[in-house]
Amino acid sequence: MQVSNNSAVSIHYTLTKDDGEVIDSSIGHEPLTYLHGTGSIISGLEKALSGKSVGDTFTANIPASDAYGLIFEDRIQVISREMFDGIDNIEVGMQFHADVSEGPGIVTVIAVDGDNITIDGNHPLAGMPLNFDIEVIEVRPATEEEIEHGHIHGAGGHHH
Ligand code: ZN
Repeated sequence: MQVSNNSAVSIHYTLTKDDGEVIDSSIGHEPLTYLHGTGSIISGLEKALSGKSVGDTFTANIPASDAYGLIFEDRIQVISREMFDGIDNIEVGMQFHADVSEGPGIVTVIAVDGDNITIDGNHPLAGMPLNFDIEVIEVRPATEEEIEHGHIHGAGGHHH
């Protein structure tokens, strides 16, 4: 069967940046299993998987706007070192949980200038086109219960 809305889909994937650096891969682990058509994976990848069948292998090149989004300048701000209460050494690259405008998120320190700390609340992969090497491992119709819950049960999914 082909991947369509309400398919339970298992894939192996390797995610790389445009320069070839591997960001993440399921190779050597369990495949990723998801419910198709629910937006549980990034939209560009979901689009690329529509209509595919078991055994298909392909590469999906996904623009940033269909991946983790564009970079929003207003999510980059300079705050005072005092805001980092109790942390002595603040260095570029450190990440903190913070309440950003869209709710709880992760901010990354991108510059340190005396008491001025520049933080970036964009997703670390925002603004980046992404490349997925995909192999479709399994496609089956989701059960009514899975569709109702909006996720897959059993191997690679929720257990409850
Ligand atoms: Zn469930």
